[in-house]
Amino acid sequence: MPVHPAPTRKPHLTPLLRLSQKPPLTVLSFGAGQDSAMLLALCLEDRAFQKQYIPGDLAVLMSSTGLEHPETDAYRERTAALCAERNVPFLHITPDLGFHTPSWQTLHTQWIKNQTIQSLVFPRTCSISLKLGPFYKALNALLAQRYGYPAQRGRVTRAALYAYAQDYGPVQVMIGFGKGEERRIKPTPSGFMTQTVERLFPLIDMGLTRAGCQAGTAALGFEVPMPSNCQHCPFHGPLDLLRLHRKHPESFALWSQFERTKLTAEKWQGTRNHTVKGDDRTLDQHLDAATREFGHLDVAELDFLRHTRGHGNTTGF
Ligand code: SF4
Repeated sequence: MPVHPAPTRKPHLTPLLRLSQKPPLTVLSFGAGQDSAMLLALCLEDRAFQKQYIPGDLAVLMSSTGLEHPETDAYRERTAALCAERNVPFLHITPDLGFHTPSWQTLHTQWIKNQTIQSLVFPRTCSISLKLGPFYKALNALLAQRYGYPAQRGRVTRAALYAYAQDYGPVQVMIGFGKGEERRIKPTPSGFMTQTVERLFPLIDMGLTRAGCQAGTAALGFEVPMPSNCQHCPFHGPLDLLRLHRKHPESFALWSQFERTKLTAEKWQGTRNHTVKGDDRTLDQHLDAATREFGHLDVAELDFLRHTRGHGNTTGF
């Protein structure tokens, strides 16, 4: 059952292909959250959506931060199995594939190396380094493999992306920002993306909010997962902090230890030595406040609230 109103985007024109050349590729940037789930359901089930956004084949790519919530890891595994059933390539970009830089193998690599943390008042280096960077390196390798392009030509490290763009036009990458998240769309961050990538935001085109995604995904018969962000994401609100502490106390304790290490590190004394929340209150103090306000809720209620309300992540792409 189609769940969306008439999309506003013009149809992509498929270029003439050389004999035996593979059809164009549309890539779903998968975050394993509710917006991604809606996009995947539309990609797999909705003919009108397919006609509008997928002129050739589909591939699903997800970059690992090394610190997703356990339920996100489990959902990602189920999604990979579903994609395999549907003959849709699903690539989980883990550090062992070589697309993460040495200093950003996981969220914690940088924290350990520099006695630091992610803070709400610091630049969002984590999503750029752990998601965006590995994603486009992996996409370049995928295009090289699929179309027989060189992955690198001289000093040009995104040679396959350039070669694809020459043959087919910019590669279409679908990003799951919903209606109301338009501010997360950032200008394309570097030269190669400007020339080789067309970012698509179908949920915004279709006016789908988070609630719309939850309803639409269920209406298409697909699982509505928990919102996904890292266990140690500074965007966690009070309910998420409490939930993490209740469900994974060792994880919360580790996060709190990282924060303490930064606050007491000699190298950061006399600098903008911010806490995770950037308001001079530590994670433990925020947890105390959350416990006072929401401590009466049990884990099932905290799960329910996270599932329905989403996370507060505002990182852009
Ligand atoms: S979910 Fe949060 S911590 Fe993880 S990469 Fe994104 S902004 Fe950074």
